[in-house]
Amino acid sequence: MRIAVVGAGIGGLTATAFLLRDGHDVHVFESASSLGDVGAGIQVSPNGVRILDDLGALDDLNRIGVRPSRIVIRRWDDDRELNVMPLGETAEERWGHPYFNVYRPDLISLLAALSDEATFHYASKIRDVVIDDREPTLILENGESFVADLVIGADGIHSRVRDSLHGRLPTRFRNLVAHRALVPRADVPDVPVEVTNRLGPGGHIVSYFVGKDARFLNLVCISDDPDWDVESWNEPGDPDALRNRYATWSPPIRRILDHVDRGVFRWALHDREPLSSWSHGAVTLLGDACHPMVPFMAQGACQAMEDAAALARCLRTLESTTLALTEYEHERQPRTATIQGRSFANATMFHLDDGPEQVTRDSMFTNSDAEAALGRFNWLYRP
Ligand SMILES: Cc1cc2nc3c(=O)[nH]c(=O)nc-3n(C[C@H](O)[C@H](O)[C@H](O)COP(=O)(O)OP(=O)(O)OC[C@H]3O[C@@H](n4cnc5c(N)ncnc54)[C@H](O)[C@@H]3O)c2cc1C
Repeated sequence: MRIAVVGAGIGGLTATAFLLRDGHDVHVFESASSLGDVGAGIQVSPNGVRILDDLGALDDLNRIGVRPSRIVIRRWDDDRELNVMPLGETAEERWGHPYFNVYRPDLISLLAALSDEATFHYASKIRDVVIDDREPTLILENGESFVADLVIGADGIHSRVRDSLHGRLPTRFRNLVAHRALVPRADVPDVPVEVTNRLGPGGHIVSYFVGKDARFLNLVCISDDPDWDVESWNEPGDPDALRNRYATWSPPIRRILDHVDRGVFRWALHDREPLSSWSHGAVTLLGDACHPMVPFMAQGACQAMEDAAALARCLRTLESTTLALTEYEHERQPRTATIQGRSFANATMFHLDDGPEQVTRDSMFTNSDAEAALGRFNWLYRP
């Protein structure tokens, strides 16, 4: 089949790698002039690692990724441990695959290497998709067109392919703003190689190491903030404003924030309601194009990769494209809608003011041992 993939992010490249393996003629349309991604971190949980292993990329992932030893939830003011989920061998035995933290550009390069037999059309922004009884046609911003047997919209939260299916609707600003920064490991030599989530009033901070030899500590600091809703990965943030925001938090996190320099970026967090239908004719969607979510389960990219694997399998095993797209959507829509909802619910739970609700939340965490902590993720991480 001649397949057009719109968008060369994590979802589009994963789909491309699977479809090439199945012998399809894959054309990737990307609005940027080259492949690239922001220099931030990303957590790849065992369900995402499983997909990369299916593509034969586990050795490469081991080369670029960091394996955290555990996930620790801490209190904001005194750094007290509220909950510990062991990772390492315990998690790998339970879920069949390890947990990785990676530097996003490294993951994009890994996926690009698996997709290099596709035809890449860079600086090719899609304006519209014409969907009728015949093959779908992509219309580019420059007026050119491209006819395919199947179009896959992997063009992110502002998907033009989605607009062609459902009309253009605004995203939903969640009154939350994230700051991200990378701190060289040499500046924070005592910080252990684990994922830490510090919960506090109106905010939380997630930190973990990324890059070869764990060379950066990736920080994501999320605050309630209804006043600034610009969604851009490259909007500079003010390190001093960031330090002021968390000035009353624990000494260990303040020491880390002291090393944040000008390379701090901020962006407002948006999502959308779950979509009731992902496909029409021979056009479908995957990843943030159909289920954008706030990042509080660290699942957006992992779910995009799961979509890609499921879509390729349905196309491989079912006799018509129509049946394949119906089965794909049937399999994926309920799971991703659940994760969209739970991700946003975590923001409320993570950001409670100190008081009775926070005490109940914290005792739920402190009363839950390692087995219970791991068990909470079985539905998400296991095959
Ligand atoms: C703060 C933060 C932390 C996160 N942490 C995690 C995490 O730890 N783990 C995790 O799994 N997920 C995480 N996510 C979510 C994850 O980043 C996204 O869900 C994921 O990148 C979505 O991938 P995608 O391929 O669907 O879309 P995108 O990555 O948005 O890729 C879309 C691509 O399409 C291109 N494009 C857009 N429009 C057009 C057009 N009209 N024509 C042609 N090309 C176009 C874009 O240039 C881009 O290359 C996080 C998100 C945020 C904001």
